[in-house]
Amino acid sequence: MSFDAIILGGSYAGLSAGLQLARARRKVLIIDKGLRRNRFAETSHGFLTQDGNTPSAIAAEGRAQLMEYPTVQWLQDEATSAEPLKDGFKIALRQGADVTGRRLVLATGVTDVLPELDGLAERWGKSVFHCPYCHGYELEEGAIGVLATSAISMHHALMLPDWGPTTFFLNGAFEPDADQLLQLARRNVTVERGTIDRLEGERANVVMKDGRVLPMSGLFTATRTEVAAPFAEQLGCAFDDGPLGRSIRTDAMKATTVHGVFACGDAARSAGSVALAVGDGAMAGAATHRSLMFD
Ligand SMILES: Cc1cc2nc3c(=O)[nH]c(=O)nc-3n(C[C@H](O)[C@H](O)[C@H](O)COP(=O)(O)OP(=O)(O)OC[C@H]3O[C@@H](n4cnc5c(N)ncnc54)[C@H](O)[C@@H]3O)c2cc1C
Repeated sequence: MSFDAIILGGSYAGLSAGLQLARARRKVLIIDKGLRRNRFAETSHGFLTQDGNTPSAIAAEGRAQLMEYPTVQWLQDEATSAEPLKDGFKIALRQGADVTGRRLVLATGVTDVLPELDGLAERWGKSVFHCPYCHGYELEEGAIGVLATSAISMHHALMLPDWGPTTFFLNGAFEPDADQLLQLARRNVTVERGTIDRLEGERANVVMKDGRVLPMSGLFTATRTEVAAPFAEQLGCAFDDGPLGRSIRTDAMKATTVHGVFACGDAARSAGSVALAVGDGAMAGAATHRSLMFD
């Protein structure tokens, strides 16, 4: 099977890229294994017209609209490798036969590496989050904890008082200097230096090693992110280092450093959201079409 473009990853960024190509009547294949980054959350917020909808419903509606276009095909499968050809790329699949496309769009997202703390992983997306804009409002101005992972957590600690009274749990990860302590005091952040033993309870009660229990409506922490698939690396695309992890380098049109390969969504930016993934995807789709016409 050969296509004008193959899109690896059929979530918000990939669907949006596919829509532009479909509307240009190009033959597109979307390959997706169905593990969106926000699958742990019950609701998604901050994306116009879909605020409060479930992550899966937003993706399902996008997919249904895209699949109305006759030149689009969908493969529920895992792509395992990407290889350059003379005029395009060959993608190997876990289950199906190899497929080829003249252009490639990488929309595989990122994986969050969570801090190790008993009780954290099972609360991820429910009462433990990384994005205040996505889930801060629903905490209804209740007590908020910020779990430090490094100095980068200052950012969270200084932001979150806008969503509720904030306690900054240093947990041995980092010690603010005098200037940082002043900034925290100006934002009325309580600094907690004790060691955390675990999270428990329906929300995120923080149980300290010394036995104290500090009940929180929600906890925010910075995860380390990893690009979810090896294709950019296999094809020799350049990466940029960011404070949370690396991302695939693209220009303003979402072209990577390798001719014919485009990247969009969380995999190709340092901090993402559904709205930004959709915007990036639209740009990548249009740029892929332009490349098919003129390159
Ligand atoms: C807990 C949590 C809650 C969040 N809440 C919000 C929110 O409320 N609002 C908001 O705007 N953002 C939220 N986000 C961020 C949001 O999830 C991402 O910004 C968004 O999903 C990025 O879209 P994407 O299309 O780039 O990647 P993803 O949605 O992660 O999709 C990548 C797709 O690629 C597929 N894929 C990966 N590798 C392969 C492969 N080898 N073969 C085939 N398919 C592959 C995956 O299965 C997946 O379907 C949240 C994130 C988390 C972790």
